[in-house]
Amino acid sequence: MRAAPRRSIEKSNAQFQKALKRLPLGVASTFRYWGDDRTIYVDHGKGGRIWDIDGNGYVDYRLGYGPAILGYADERVDAAARRGMEVGGVFALSTERELAVADRIAKMVPGVDLVRYSNSGTEAVMAALRLARAHTGRDSYLLIEGAYHGLFDAAMWMANVEEWSQRGGGDPEVVAYSKGIPQELKTLAHLVPMNDLQRLEDTFKRHGNDMAAMLIEPIQGNCCGISASGDYVRLARKLCDQYGVLLIIDEVKTGFRVARGGVQSLHGVTPDICTFAKAMANGYPIAVVAGREEVMRTFRYGGAAHGGTYTAHSVSLAAAEECLRILDETPALETLAKYGENLKAGMSRILNRRGIVHSYAGHDSMFGLFFAEKAPDNYRDWKTSDYSFYDQMAYHLHDLGVICEPDSREPWFMCEAHDASCLEDTLVAFETAVDMTLE
Ligand code: PLP
Repeated sequence: MRAAPRRSIEKSNAQFQKALKRLPLGVASTFRYWGDDRTIYVDHGKGGRIWDIDGNGYVDYRLGYGPAILGYADERVDAAARRGMEVGGVFALSTERELAVADRIAKMVPGVDLVRYSNSGTEAVMAALRLARAHTGRDSYLLIEGAYHGLFDAAMWMANVEEWSQRGGGDPEVVAYSKGIPQELKTLAHLVPMNDLQRLEDTFKRHGNDMAAMLIEPIQGNCCGISASGDYVRLARKLCDQYGVLLIIDEVKTGFRVARGGVQSLHGVTPDICTFAKAMANGYPIAVVAGREEVMRTFRYGGAAHGGTYTAHSVSLAAAEECLRILDETPALETLAKYGENLKAGMSRILNRRGIVHSYAGHDSMFGLFFAEKAPDNYRDWKTSDYSFYDQMAYHLHDLGVICEPDSREPWFMCEAHDASCLEDTLVAFETAVDMTLE
């Protein structure tokens, strides 16, 4: 295989060696470590591009794992954040803007009556699960294989598909994502494969009366954009109603990106609780747990505890107010989805010319690319598929100035600033990367 014309990342390499002495793996988040000689450090981002400390520019389709929906350093949102800064930070008291932003969310998302703020997706989903448990008086819950709901213990259970595919039967064992998660907690977590209606019914029959909640990530943002079908989400709603289980739709990645009202609005399903984060403030840290009034009122003294020093921080809140206004009142979401559609069409032209079979999952605003006729619709199928071509191509793309996730788990995220020049540069690099991978 031909080696990609590596850009120089000497400064990043040197920074890595220095950082290693003070930061585990040389980074602030384990997912940012790309290997001892590939980890890069960002100087700045603008629009749909980032520049590393060596001065290399990249068209970026990771967008900080999704938040930069309008593009990096968006002047409208940054100006609002500066206004938030002038207010004074954080007070251990409430501000008027909390209601203004909550009103906007309730206007955009059908089924949202009440809103509570958090700082991150992890915190919001953790609060949602606690709320469901407090409201129902039950402890166990249902997760879908391949979903990611954050770093808290209850969310970090996954299907051991490698062992299962070798065994060739039954269900995969449930294992923790990480060391440090008490095994005792495993008995509370049930897992089902995405889009298997029969399994879902069977699981509710067995455990439905004990479960507080079912969590659905409607487009799996950490599993290539694998999506729940409308039928699956609607069946989940029906079963939750039947068994008194609360439906939590986790829209931390999809919310205010795929549609103004979230994926839930596309399926016409109203969850009891939903969570939002990334796209709501164009990168400023803020998240939301929201939902039906009767459930949300369980956040009270003597009910589900919730709070936090930095919740509804005035900078993030001001950024959210402006970002949500733009997403609600301008065609930003249609624009970025159109860019995604154009990018996919361009990629397909290149792949079709070479007779390379491929397919896409997810939505034009966040999509997964597969080198197979049909995109997988559950984690087991993806995990047992051959994604080596994609992974190799992704590395070449980085060297050619396009950043997508270095493996196929993370979808390509589009932003309003991915204009024609970004797309043109991407497709030139994509064609070269494909040919390099083919050699
Ligand atoms: N939920 C979903 C669906 C996510 O994709 C993520 C993060 O990627 C989270 C929760 C956790 O969010 P955070 O990284 O902000 O804690």
